[in-house]
Order: sequence, then C-alpha cells, then structure tokens
Amino acid sequence: MTTTYDVINPATEQRVTTVDLFDEAATDAAIARSRRAFETWRQVAPGDRARLLRRFAEAVDADRERLAQLEVANSGHTIGNARWEAGNVRDVIAYYSATPERLIGQQIPVSGGIDVTFHEPLGVIGVIVPWNFPMPIASWGFAPALAAGNTVVMKPAELTPMTAMRLAELALDAGLPEDVFQVLPGKGSVVGQRFVDSPDVAKIVFTGSTDVGRQVLAGCAAQIKPVTLELGGKSANVVFADADIEQAAATAPSAVFDNAGQDCCARSRILVERTAYDEFMAAFETAVGRVVVADPADDKTEMGPLISAAHRDRVSSYVPDESLVAFRGTAPDGPGFWFPPTVLTPTDPRDRVLHEEIFGPVVAVVPFDDEAEAIRIANDSEFGLSGSIWTRDIGRAIRVSRGIESGNLSVNSHSSVRYWTPFGGFKASGLGRELGPDAPLAFTETKNVFFADN
Ligand code: NAD
Repeated sequence: MTTTYDVINPATEQRVTTVDLFDEAATDAAIARSRRAFETWRQVAPGDRARLLRRFAEAVDADRERLAQLEVANSGHTIGNARWEAGNVRDVIAYYSATPERLIGQQIPVSGGIDVTFHEPLGVIGVIVPWNFPMPIASWGFAPALAAGNTVVMKPAELTPMTAMRLAELALDAGLPEDVFQVLPGKGSVVGQRFVDSPDVAKIVFTGSTDVGRQVLAGCAAQIKPVTLELGGKSANVVFADADIEQAAATAPSAVFDNAGQDCCARSRILVERTAYDEFMAAFETAVGRVVVADPADDKTEMGPLISAAHRDRVSSYVPDESLVAFRGTAPDGPGFWFPPTVLTPTDPRDRVLHEEIFGPVVAVVPFDDEAEAIRIANDSEFGLSGSIWTRDIGRAIRVSRGIESGNLSVNSHSSVRYWTPFGGFKASGLGRELGPDAPLAFTETKNVFFADN
C-alpha cells in the first residue's frame, strides 16, 4: 500500500480520516487469498452458511447508528437517509441468508437415467461500487454473491470508503471466515482495473457511470468474463392531467432532489400534460421552496451537500447564467459543497439538460400534448433506468408503463428499489439485474449432470 487518501466531509470540507489505498500488488494478493478462501467457503454446509449470513445481518443491525453516522460524515447523506441505508444493508443480507438452503436445481425427465441441474458458485466476485449510495449498492452485490457460495473482493469509490470498511469488520465479527469478504479501498484505475483484468476474478458487478461501465465491459469481453452493469439514468416523471396534481407536485421534489439528486433513479425530467402545466408548476414551486437543505446531521434536513467541489463544478456547468431557471430552492452559505434545488424549463428538445445525467439537484420540466407524445419524449434518451407515471386512468397506466423503455417504473408513486424485486436498466443504463428472488442465480453457473441407469 503505497498511497493514501484524505476523506473529506462534504458538509464541512474538513478531513474525516486518511485511508490507505491498495496498489496492484496488494490487490493481487487479496484476490489470491479470496481464491483460496473460495475453496472452503463453497464447501460450508448450506445451513451453516445461512446461519453465518444471518449473524452478519444481526451485526449490521446492532451497528446501524454507527454506520449511519459514518455515512453522514463521509458522504453528506441526511441522517434519516443514512439510517434507512444501514437498515437496507441489514435487510438485504437477511433476505439472501435464505438462499443457501434454497439454491434448488431441477430434476428433468429424460430417457435412460436421471438428469439433474446444479447452481455452482463462480469463484471470486469483484464488486465495484460508486460514491452515491456506498452502503446499499455494496450489499446488493456482495450479499447474493456470498449466499450463492462465492467469495467477494469489493472496491468502494475512492471518495466514500468508510462504511464499506466497517461492513468488512462486521462480517469478521459475525464469524464469516477470513478472506471470504474483503474490502479494498483504492483507485478505479488500479484496484477496479485489476478486478477486471485478473483471471482469478470470475465475475464483475459494476455500478457507476456509463463511460467507465463501457470500459469495464470491454475489459471483461477480452476474457469472456460475465459482468453486471448498473449505469446512469435520465428518468422521466410523467404527469397526466387526470392525476392527483397536488400529490404529484408535492412528491416530485423528493423524486429528484433526494440525496441531492445524486441518484441513478432521479426523476430528472418532469413531463407534464399541457392542460395541467400551470397548476402543476404553481404547486411544484411551493414544494421546492419547502425542501430543507441544511446540515445533514440534523434530523429535519431533507437534502445535504454534493459529494465534492469537483462534482459541484460539474453540476453548476448545467446551469449557466443564460439557462431558463423557473425557480430555485435554498442552500446554506459557507463551507460545504452546497447547491440549491433548481428547476429548469428548457425549450429546445436537444438541450443537454434533457439528455445528460446531471447527478445533482437540477430538474427540467417539459410540457406534452398527448399520451403518444409523453411516451416518445420519455423514450428520447440513451438511458432507461427508472421513472414514474401519474394518472388515475388504469388503462393509460398500463399502456404507458408498457410503452416506456425502462427497467423500473412506478405508478402514482416514486418507488424504485425494493430488495424483493429485480432492479436494473434498459439501454445504456445497464446489463443484467440485481436484487429480487433471482439475484443469486446471477452468481452461479448452471451445471447439468446426466446419471445413466445402466
Ligand atoms: P464512476 O464510474 O466514476 O465510478 C464507479 C466506480 O468505478 C468507482 O469505484 C471507481 O473507482 C471505479 N472505476 C473507475 N475507473 C475504473 C476502471 N477503469 N476499472 C474499474 N473500475 C473503475 O461513477 P461514480 O461517479 O462513482 O458514480 C456515479 C455514477 O454511478 C452515475 O452515473 C450513476 O448514475 C451511476 N449509478 C448507477 C446506479 C444503478 O444502479 N444503475 C446506481 C448508482 C449509481
């Protein structure tokens, strides 16, 4: 380990801690240990593996407040969100602790004997995590992978290593054998790239930007290495005139400004039927004005700062002086990477604020005239991750939800990620699915064995 990284609190700009970064040699050594641990972890009896994962979930539960406080300090997440995130990790591990005892194959009727399928673990899984939701996204990868009998090496984002490092300690405390779950803080170009290139890593789970996802996919292609990609989004919140406009407007801010808009599922385009546009905008302005942007450690805060100064510069570049700002919320002055909730009304359909992922608290509102136009605008994007549809007409809800090219839609709500249900993107938003009952199968190969009865 040759270099270090200073973790900065984005709400205060103060240094929180300094973390040692893994270099290539240390990464290779960790992968080799993971590979050795795999040989014993895969042999652990299903009931024992399940029990160890349940203990891991209990250890996370007992440590929830500490994990939440670490996330507030490291990532600027509001304390309310951070507590939910720690609870989500507990729930995801608990959900997949049921997997080892239920990884059931098939017995298929054939002539001359019996035929059985097995779900064999792959080996070492490399999980690469972004900075926007360090805890939940980590667990969506490592929990089903471990449950299916694999070992895991995980790289948190350089900016946000603290909760991941704590989760690795909790796994050991809970009794998971040494090297079954390792966390390697480091640079993407060093540790992440080694995961992709190493022949001893059997699969990559990557969540991050579409550009880096493309590189990861190309690297994996060279080795025919399987990969799951969870990438960017530019999701639409489609509001029809027959909807409960008051509720649609009151909930629209949290759908895009939660986590300061640093959410791959952010509904960063709001499409409103023209006949309801004025009513929606009036109610939306009131709702945006009420968003509490303040110290993330305060229970009442609804939105914290952006993750870094560089990211704030990037977000600001989408709101130059001449841009069509309809209205803005508030943000604190002084230290911290603050940016107020901002509502734009671009008139050119090619405007980059309608096509590029801003990943900040900036939303663009566009009117439409009918259902066909709403679907066309929603689909006018390289991405297809999430989205919402507001209408009281059930037939329309069915037609529009089937018409929008997106992996996760909600009608009359903004829910996206529920660990019981599959999550992932269409088009440039990704490849494969996480979560839901089938996630462990993505960490196995199906083996078919025929037993002759002669
Ligand atoms: P990023 O692509 O810059 O980094 C993601 C991770 O990849 C980091 O850990 C980084 O260190 C690592 N990395 C960088 N270069 C690498 C390389 N050459 N090889 C291997 N790993 C490398 O993304 P980010 O800025 O951390 O996160 C924001 C992005 O993540 C947004 O685009 C967002 O939409 C996306 N995201 C998607 C989902 C989803 O589920 N679809 C969820 C959260 C975030």
